[in-house]
Amino acid sequence: MPTRTPSAARKTAKKSPGKAKPLRGPLAPDRVAAILKALDEAYPNAECALHHRTPWELLVATILSAQCTDARVNMVTPELFRRFPTPAAIAKAPLSEIEDLIRTTGFFHNKAKSILGAAKKITEDFNGQVPQTLAELITVPGAARKTANVVLGVSFGKAEGVVVDTHVFRIARRLELAKGDTPQEVERELMGVLPRDHWISFSHQVIHHGRQVCVARNPKCDKCNLETLCRSKDKTWSS
Ligand code: SF4
Repeated sequence: MPTRTPSAARKTAKKSPGKAKPLRGPLAPDRVAAILKALDEAYPNAECALHHRTPWELLVATILSAQCTDARVNMVTPELFRRFPTPAAIAKAPLSEIEDLIRTTGFFHNKAKSILGAAKKITEDFNGQVPQTLAELITVPGAARKTANVVLGVSFGKAEGVVVDTHVFRIARRLELAKGDTPQEVERELMGVLPRDHWISFSHQVIHHGRQVCVARNPKCDKCNLETLCRSKDKTWSS
């Protein structure tokens, strides 16, 4: 009967499918910690780029930011809030007047309807104050989960979820922190893998990273301080 040499045993072990999970992988705690550390180093002061003075102004600015740059939104909101400074004021505004003020942000008809609906809801049901829970916020017209997470995180410092916009969706998948095919799935995965005290800052940092370095096409991997941690097939450069 033939005896197995040590090297034959190793080959057999490699071929065996096995059920045990690898000790290391994309979600290994030390790898996740290294990603968060690199983001903290690259973007120590990352903040929401939408100009606002109150939770209500942030809510409106976030509604306007859909399919639009933050810079464009910031050009539009000062006059909008000068004309209509409160939810109660905007709730009485003619739809056409809101449309005219926000026209350059695109999709202005739907956005104006959302803002008007949000103003009425907040005036009538929340005493003119933007609610501070996710469950309440998502009942406000125009405030789906992403918008609600932005307002809760930035205005109230509350982490009930993770903001997943187009940048977070793309980069979470490139960094193998999530695999989901929808923002909802990616958010759920990120909530499982990120420490809660990073839920708010992670999104701000990744949004900056997505705008400046890890852009959608031809990411600038040679300028990325996460490069050694990243195995994305989209990489344009490897050290
Ligand atoms: S290495 Fe490239 S693909 Fe990976 S996170 Fe950095 S910029 Fe994005």
